[in-house]
Amino acid sequence: MEANNIGIKVAKPKEKCKDNNCPFHGSLRCRGRIFTGTVISVKMQKTASVWWERRNFLRKYERYEKRKSGVKAHNPSCINAQEGNIVKIMECRPLSKTKSFVIIEVSGKERGFKERMEAEEESKVKREAKKIDEQTDEAEEEVAK
Ligand SMILES: [Zn+2]
Repeated sequence: MEANNIGIKVAKPKEKCKDNNCPFHGSLRCRGRIFTGTVISVKMQKTASVWWERRNFLRKYERYEKRKSGVKAHNPSCINAQEGNIVKIMECRPLSKTKSFVIIEVSGKERGFKERMEAEEESKVKREAKKIDEQTDEAEEEVAK
């Protein structure tokens, strides 16, 4: 079975699959927006969490701030993106309640992805610890009163 032409120039996957929701081997049509992001999680079945950074202009300071956007995207078995992969995703019809994108190309690996994830995990733990600290402080003040 020849891989379908999906309308834009991307590297066709080397492997084949029988997924009907695959833009190359199934009947899924791609249209709409295209984003490039990093796969954060592949824990769901045939689904990947893809996040990317965007810049938001702040008029008051005339500078940009970093913001993040993310969506869930279908991960066909012929593409089989892994965590840390940089992927191109394209909009398609809604495949589930929260999924209306499909991965169309893996274009490489993000360097230092593991380190970044670890750093983020650490900062999350720290933030939570701080929150608990503050709460106990407040509780103690209450008691002191
Ligand atoms: Zn496929």
